[in-house]
Amino acid sequence: MMGRCLSWLMAAFALLATTSAFAQSKLPVVTSFTILADLARNVGGDRVAVTSLVGPNSDVHSYVPTPADAKVLAGAKVIILNGLGLEGATARFMETAAKNARVVVASTGVTPLRLGGEVDPHAWQSIPNAKLYVANIRDALISADPADKAVFEANTAAYLLRLDALDAEVRAEIARIPPERRELISTHDAFGYLGSAYGIAFIAPHGVSTEAESSARDIAYIIKQIRTEHIPAVFLENVTDPRLMEQIARESGAHVGGTLYSDALTSPDGPAPTYIDLMRHNVKQLVTTLSP
Ligand SMILES: [Zn+2]
Repeated sequence: MMGRCLSWLMAAFALLATTSAFAQSKLPVVTSFTILADLARNVGGDRVAVTSLVGPNSDVHSYVPTPADAKVLAGAKVIILNGLGLEGATARFMETAAKNARVVVASTGVTPLRLGGEVDPHAWQSIPNAKLYVANIRDALISADPADKAVFEANTAAYLLRLDALDAEVRAEIARIPPERRELISTHDAFGYLGSAYGIAFIAPHGVSTEAESSARDIAYIIKQIRTEHIPAVFLENVTDPRLMEQIARESGAHVGGTLYSDALTSPDGPAPTYIDLMRHNVKQLVTTLSP
């Protein structure tokens, strides 16, 4: 009896020891914002522990690092940034605070779009670009943890197939919108890559950053444009103040087409907890609102 009890205890301890050793062996990965975190989780699977500095429904453009973030970065082995100017000055902070980490710029290899003189950083809004992000993340995880190369490669291959299916789905959905109605107003210029990849014109009163201010003249111009071009709808975003768009809708007679998710995922109980959910949600909103 005593022996059985003891061996049960020893088995329990052995299990505990393996579990905690396993938890400790997870590669610590830090990303600047939630969309990169989701891509990294899909590539890394159970071999990585991913932290996003900017959380769900929060605005990466106005991110200000905290001492707690510096601590998280100091423990990281891989840091994933978007690049293309998205992280601004905080990119330097992240690289400096991360003493022992590899820094990967996920957008490496993307053909950048420009808005005015500025580079548009929102490259993940095109699924072919997101596939480049995933390949860059895979390569960074493999160089940080070569022992798990086969796992990272298998996870990536499976996820890329899902992104191919998503891309086909998005194209088929957008084809349902009559070409003359593929035009809308969004809060900040976050959808240039989506528009250019899938043939929709997005017009935004803010610039590429949510930090940019719109002048009364910009707003008057947009209202006039909605009327003369018969733009059917304006959309809200989860990272920006809805009041300006509500005002524009009121004064122009355009329909408010719901919320688009541009720069941040939602929490797990929201409509866009993953990148794939985000793209599906946005396209559904576009099709529902813009189709006659
Ligand atoms: Zn943005």
